[in-house]
Amino acid sequence: MPKAPKWFNDTVETLLGSKMPRVKVTETEYLNPFIKRIRLQGELNDWHCHAGYATGVRISDTEYRNYTPSFDDVENGIVELIVHLHGDGPGSRYMNNLSIGDELKLIMPRGKKVYSEDVKQYFFFGDETTLAMACALNERAKKNKALLHFYFELDAENKNIPAILGLDNYSVFSKNKTLANVELVNQLPMFQMPGYKEATFIVSGNATSVQTVRRAIKQYGVSGSIIAQAYWAAGKTGL
Ligand SMILES: Cc1cc2nc3c(=O)[nH]c(=O)nc-3n(C[C@H](O)[C@H](O)[C@H](O)COP(=O)(O)OP(=O)(O)OC[C@H]3O[C@@H](n4cnc5c(N)ncnc54)[C@H](O)[C@@H]3O)c2cc1C
Repeated sequence: MPKAPKWFNDTVETLLGSKMPRVKVTETEYLNPFIKRIRLQGELNDWHCHAGYATGVRISDTEYRNYTPSFDDVENGIVELIVHLHGDGPGSRYMNNLSIGDELKLIMPRGKKVYSEDVKQYFFFGDETTLAMACALNERAKKNKALLHFYFELDAENKNIPAILGLDNYSVFSKNKTLANVELVNQLPMFQMPGYKEATFIVSGNATSVQTVRRAIKQYGVSGSIIAQAYWAAGKTGL
């Protein structure tokens, strides 16, 4: 997300008024020192969040960052985020510092719709930054009895996080290995599963892995959708 001067961000917030819900932190939980779940509560008028949509959080006077609701309940005004505390940026530090009672404003969720009730098979590729989307998607797929398999590349210290989050149908790889190599992606068992060609492939997280996985899937000539989006890129700020 682009950097803008403080006066500009202040003016936009004032003009948008109630279109930027003001929420309060009501719960925080460190699943480990690197993954934090944050529960926010406030009036969510006109809030519509499809799985895969992201909200924007103003993490400094001049910058916003994207985060995906893992869960939302408009009636009770609840939004939940799951954030990767990678420690190398103002967004990560802001999220680490958020504590109960803090107030923030949210940009209305927007982005790519990744889920359709008509699709009965999904393959999901991601990393720590996509755990929130995985949770949002998991709930919908379970209700709709759709098949959903997660392929995560995670730092060693985060390998048990999918289980802690209640995800079950997943495989975990080390970073910069399987999802960084077209040949290794091509050997994944999903390409032997019936119906994989018509499945929807959701690919997000690290920009290099997104490119690699997308290329590998394309080699199989699938007819289903490939929904790909980089969530962060090494050396770049605030995608
Ligand atoms: C649509 C969308 C939805 C997203 N949803 C989530 C979400 O639900 N949870 C979540 O945690 N993140 C999510 N992200 C990713 C998050 O917005 C980025 O990681 C963002 O760069 C974090 O900002 P920062 O200020 O901490 O780091 P930046 O200032 O943007 O970057 C500083 C440095 O840190 C590196 N960096 C950034 N992110 C990571 C990372 N995860 N691991 C290692 N190095 C990193 C950058 O390459 C850069 O070198 C989403 C991104 C998008 C585009």
